[in-house]
Amino acid sequence: TGRDGDAGRSGDLRLEAVTKEFASFTAVRSLDLVVPQGSFFALLGPSGCGKTTTLRMVAGLETPTSGRILLGDREITADKPYKRPVNTVFQSYALFPHLDIAENVAFGLRRRGVKDTDKQVSDMLDLVELTGQAKKKPGQLSGGQQQRVALARALINRPEVLLLDEPLGALDLKLRRGMQIELKRIQTEVGLTFVHVTHDQEEAMTMADTVAVMNGGVIEQMGAPAALYDNPRSTFVANFLGQSNLLAGEILGPDGDVVRVNVHGTTVSIPGDRAHADGADGWVGVRPEKVMIAEVGGEIDAPGNRFTGGVVSDVSFVGVSTQYLVRMPWGQEMMVFEQNTGRRPILAVGTPVDLSWRPEYAFLLDASQDAS
Ligand code: ATP
Repeated sequence: TGRDGDAGRSGDLRLEAVTKEFASFTAVRSLDLVVPQGSFFALLGPSGCGKTTTLRMVAGLETPTSGRILLGDREITADKPYKRPVNTVFQSYALFPHLDIAENVAFGLRRRGVKDTDKQVSDMLDLVELTGQAKKKPGQLSGGQQQRVALARALINRPEVLLLDEPLGALDLKLRRGMQIELKRIQTEVGLTFVHVTHDQEEAMTMADTVAVMNGGVIEQMGAPAALYDNPRSTFVANFLGQSNLLAGEILGPDGDVVRVNVHGTTVSIPGDRAHADGADGWVGVRPEKVMIAEVGGEIDAPGNRFTGGVVSDVSFVGVSTQYLVRMPWGQEMMVFEQNTGRRPILAVGTPVDLSWRPEYAFLLDASQDAS
């Protein structure tokens, strides 16, 4: 493949203490980041967190106020966009409407003076599963197909890094889900580094090997999707990656490899890999799908923390699962998502229930480290 031939000059994408200020406003604050070569990396965060600015600095469309950007051993911080082995796919595909699909895809090669583009174009169209569409005009394709043309056009020059700025933002939900799987397949097939910007947590988790959650110009947490989901380190990350029940607790102290926490009079044990101050306030987090629900007196087939005195306050049937809200004695409503296996009838509003979860499914957040 082309990658083998490029091995000498390619490598990891590295951001070192990258800061971007717009007048007195700091959009990106001393960002340190390594994207391993050939990986799928997602920058995830709410609107205004600085993810697009970060991407634009890698593309060369913005210059960092301070810090360095490197590709392998080569510093590219101040290089012109076209001098970088980097290409970008935007949400607006910006295809040339008067050119056919093959001509659109060949555009980058032609501009570099490549004459015989047919083979590369047809390989690219195969890759994005648009074989046989070469002679159509962009207007004759669906939104999802046009996005694939944009992708093929960006990939044909074999950039070392492909930047994707909300590329699926204009597609409807069903098409988006399909394209997420497609994008991941294509990335695996071409083996290039993809850096994807999105505010959609499901999108980031579906595709990326590593997700960096950004908030207010800094990375709050970075890791594999499952690790972030199961072990968020702040309430922001816990809430941004899916739904969480956060229960206020008082940290009692370590006990072997767990930490004991008093939650509204019940002592719970949370696997603790970090030091927490005894007597400090904390949050015990548990994902709604990890909570078991049972009618009072009923069996809960999970060992662990059991909370009594709940009452079902809302029930939503959503096909694969039923989503309950349960009002607890201390007034908090907890979310419980239960798979609809048909094992027992759906519980009605007003039913007295107990909740429980396995201790290893909960996470502990130190309230003093977390203002939100
Ligand atoms: P979105 O998803 O809405 O694009 P984002 O996380 O990508 O959000 P950025 O576009 O990186 O956020 O913007 C980060 C912050 O920097 C925002 O508050 C934005 O208003 C500000 N900003 C971005 N570009 C400029 C600019 N050229 N001049 C001044 N402020 C800017």
